[in-house]
Amino acid sequence: EKEWPRPPKCRIITIANQKGGVGKTTSTVNLAAALAMHGSRVLVIDLDPQGNASTALGVEHHADIPSVYHVILEGGPFEDIVVPAEGLSNLYCAPATLHLAGAEVDLVPMVARESRLRRALEAYDTGKFDYVLIDCPPSLGLLTVNALTGAEELLIPIQTEYYALEGLTQLLHTVDLVRQHLNPNLAVSTILLTMYDARTRLAAQVADEVRSHFGDLVLSTVIPRSVRVSEAPSYGESVLTYDPSSSGALAYTEAAREMAYRGAETGA
Ligand code: ADP
Ligand code: MG
Repeated sequence: EKEWPRPPKCRIITIANQKGGVGKTTSTVNLAAALAMHGSRVLVIDLDPQGNASTALGVEHHADIPSVYHVILEGGPFEDIVVPAEGLSNLYCAPATLHLAGAEVDLVPMVARESRLRRALEAYDTGKFDYVLIDCPPSLGLLTVNALTGAEELLIPIQTEYYALEGLTQLLHTVDLVRQHLNPNLAVSTILLTMYDARTRLAAQVADEVRSHFGDLVLSTVIPRSVRVSEAPSYGESVLTYDPSSSGALAYTEAAREMAYRGAETGA
């Protein structure tokens, strides 16, 4: 089917896991592209100084470009920085630049340092989007805390490998603290298994273990390991446009479809 149900109000979803290389950015970009291709209006906020999500969306992010640093640290409006992604309509990006590398330190003395992203989102007309997806850096520092404070949903990508669950205790503890002190509305809504290697018994065992811990939060769709997925960003594209018939493109489309329908059911 072409169009998926759109949520009654904008779903703000943070994609976080303090481990690097588990597929946060890849999942953010490809889920965003899939949702946009099926009729939703989507904004990706790049909170990682590396700017990998900006790159993958074909958005410029050299030092002179106004970025999320301007919004979070200088109190500028999102209108100043949001730009259309390359090659897909309905998809927008708030880019990150290397200035953001200083943000963890620059935020420390600031008033309401954990809530600056939320305030900026409240001042912005997020109602014109169906989804805001926030891609986090690989740490539990103040940028990730801002993302958790500004969202209602958390999506945790888990790489389907031996140490998959390691570190999640720490992430879930941070989520509890944010919920108690900063954002009672935050819920872990979605777990996505990434880089699944169907040839190994280990992958199946890890997937079972994650499902027994998190139950229905885990999407039925798993993302396979696929070279096409890793090639796409260097062309400034999602895998959905880079190679639409690849296993990675099909899996991300299916995962996004699950998210769209789950949100429609729960009214999340
Ligand atoms: P994170 O944002 O959590 O650090 P990334 O999304 O950047 O992780 O992924 C880490 C690396 O793994 C990247 O080089 C990416 O291209 C690659 N990668 C991610 N998902 C897949 C996949 N399904 N198949 C193959 N490579 C992948
Ligand atoms: Mg990343």
